[in-house]
Amino acid sequence: MGRDRDMHTHDERLTRMVLTAMHDRLAMDPVPLDRPGDVATLTAALSGLITPEGADPHDVMSLWTDVLAPHVMSSDATNFLAFIPAAPTKAALLFDMLVSGASIQGISALEAAGAIAAENQVLRFIADLAGMPPEAGGVFVSGGSAGNLSALTVARDVGRHRRGLGRGSATRVAVSDQAHSSIHNALSILDMTALEVPTHDHRLTGPALAAALAADGDPGSVVGVVATAGTTNAGIIDDLASIAPVAGEHRLWFHVDGAYGGGGLMAPSVRAQYAGIEHADSFIVDPHKWLFAPYDCAALLYREPRLARAVHTQDASYLDVIHAGGDEWNPSDLAYHLTRRARGLPLWFSLAVNGTDAYARAVERSIELARWTARRVEAEPHLRLLREPTLGIVLFERIGWAPADYDRWSAALLDEQVALVTSTKWEGRTVGRLAFLHPRTSQDLVEEILARMA
Ligand SMILES: *Cc1c(COP(=O)(O)O)cnc(C)c1O
Repeated sequence: MGRDRDMHTHDERLTRMVLTAMHDRLAMDPVPLDRPGDVATLTAALSGLITPEGADPHDVMSLWTDVLAPHVMSSDATNFLAFIPAAPTKAALLFDMLVSGASIQGISALEAAGAIAAENQVLRFIADLAGMPPEAGGVFVSGGSAGNLSALTVARDVGRHRRGLGRGSATRVAVSDQAHSSIHNALSILDMTALEVPTHDHRLTGPALAAALAADGDPGSVVGVVATAGTTNAGIIDDLASIAPVAGEHRLWFHVDGAYGGGGLMAPSVRAQYAGIEHADSFIVDPHKWLFAPYDCAALLYREPRLARAVHTQDASYLDVIHAGGDEWNPSDLAYHLTRRARGLPLWFSLAVNGTDAYARAVERSIELARWTARRVEAEPHLRLLREPTLGIVLFERIGWAPADYDRWSAALLDEQVALVTSTKWEGRTVGRLAFLHPRTSQDLVEEILARMA
């Protein structure tokens, strides 16, 4: 092929080849965990592939399927229990392919009204889950980090404006010691610093926030507070209900980071623990985590989108035409981006096709498995449960183990393709951590993982 190909002409063979590969991937049951690879070896296998004339598509595809893909771990494997796993639905994965094929420019209603209407329907659904008011609105961004950065940019500018602080003035945001690393990253990018609030039982509370502000020498420089609804390490939800009134009293922008835990809003058994989230000025949840969407997809919601619009709208004369709509906003106006993939559509399609009950059941499943695992851990004399799981994450320790023992346990499980599990740090110690997210992860797998700690 190569040399004579017109790359914009439909090529039936190429289409079939790629769609067949997609078909094979979707039909995998279970999805293989796969393993890490040696970057130098993989780089060597790729050497010389990109040429002026082009290569045979079959050769390139084989290189992907046989050489590269086995060294890409499947975060949607049912035995991927490290970090935060993924579990995109089949419907969402399929629709994602269609979104790519349709070249949707998700900037504005002018260019993509149909796509944006559907994305907004999902954003409204999420806003309703959180109990945000009818005027709330938002946009899908690439991930929780992008969502946190975009929201904290608005927090900073609105906070400075409310306080009459100038551009360069010292500005801070109250955070707990459990806040995600992306929050610190965002603060650094935005030239803000953290007022670190001590936690009780790893949860940020309103009284602790009030006490930190009272003890601080310059509380007027604090413009916002970040609460976490589901910490990444342990799945803990801050006491949002007590934080909200303190934020209100001090006129702090109240941002809730639910990148991981926000999906739990769908689970009746834990919904009450999110009380107070309805007062958030901004809220993020990563559907690519616990709402079963493909990467990369984060929902960013604002209580008053017009504030975000005032901060993020890019002014360029060629863009004037997309801002003609008065009170309406475009997705590009609500975050740090311009061109964007309509990445909310796979979730929209899957939610519509599967129905919300299926989502609620799937989220509950991982919470139930975490609770069941906690009981199993408690039943073993050589294991200790470190905290009752709130969501789908279980922290526990093997009595008598040193960090190297956890490393060996983890390496052997991966080597034998039993599971990807990693240790974490908890109160200064190395401990075991299981993150459940895929609704098909089995109790048998947990039994096997725990048996390897005997
Ligand atoms: C995962 C996570 C993030 C970062 O989200 P990305 O999508 O990885 O950028 C932020 N906050 C929390 C609590 C998270 O769990």
